[in-house]
Amino acid sequence: MSLLIENLHANVDGTEILKGLSLEIPKGEVHAIMGPNGSGKSTLSKVLAGHDDYEVTAGSATMDGENLFDLEVDERSRAGLFLAFQYPAEVPGVSNANFLRAARQARLPKGEEIDAVKFYHEMYEKMDVLEMDRKFTARAVNEGFSGGEKKRNEILQMMMLAPKYCLLDETDSGLDIDALKVVAKGVNAMRSPDRGFLVITHYQRLLDYIEPDYVHVMSDGKIVKSGDKSLALELEENGYDFLKEEVAA
Ligand code: ADP
Ligand code: MG
Repeated sequence: MSLLIENLHANVDGTEILKGLSLEIPKGEVHAIMGPNGSGKSTLSKVLAGHDDYEVTAGSATMDGENLFDLEVDERSRAGLFLAFQYPAEVPGVSNANFLRAARQARLPKGEEIDAVKFYHEMYEKMDVLEMDRKFTARAVNEGFSGGEKKRNEILQMMMLAPKYCLLDETDSGLDIDALKVVAKGVNAMRSPDRGFLVITHYQRLLDYIEPDYVHVMSDGKIVKSGDKSLALELEENGYDFLKEEVAA
């Protein structure tokens, strides 16, 4: 059981961004991707989630054997894939509580109704973990939220949807250290043998709090190096200069 990406190539506006990326995330594991800006990290997460700006030109991605590219965006989500965006969208006019409730309702078998009391109880419980004020239930999704509030809200969605595979795209960017710890607490609470994580980050700091099983370096649309968490520390110390040397060699 895994999220399996093989030889993935994808274009945006006719330019190839992903250039043969392969990666397997088995359930129960946390994989981190690090890499310089512009290497294609967000592109990878959006291609997997099904963003329509991106055209897959070769390769495959399967989730527990099911071809992701056969599924529409909402079907991928209901099948258990979740993406926490680097830049979460605002959804004016839809309250956070109604948004989550609709998303949960969409996951129930036809004819089954959500238990509102249980739903609110669970939502408040998760908001407490994330140290989110209850006023956020009534506010429109992400509208006027600060950067840090948006990131917490992404994690709240993730906790409420209990996906099988979670992609977190630079969830640490724009967070101060306290918010970072809270977000990490939410993620760590969800770690389980039944769930895989791909944590994308530019900085090592997040990985002090969400300890990855494997670290991969992405450059120019591919994974160019993989290792354990010590690789992240090495990158923090030495930066990404080694990539240039390898390209030159
Ligand atoms: P990263 O997340 O690693 O910083 P991205 O995946 O955001 O990298 O971007 C990789 C490259 O693809 C960049 O050169 C970026 O400008 C380009 N790119 C990504 N999305 C788009 C888009 N929608 N339109 C045009 N170019 C894009
Ligand atoms: Mg990015």
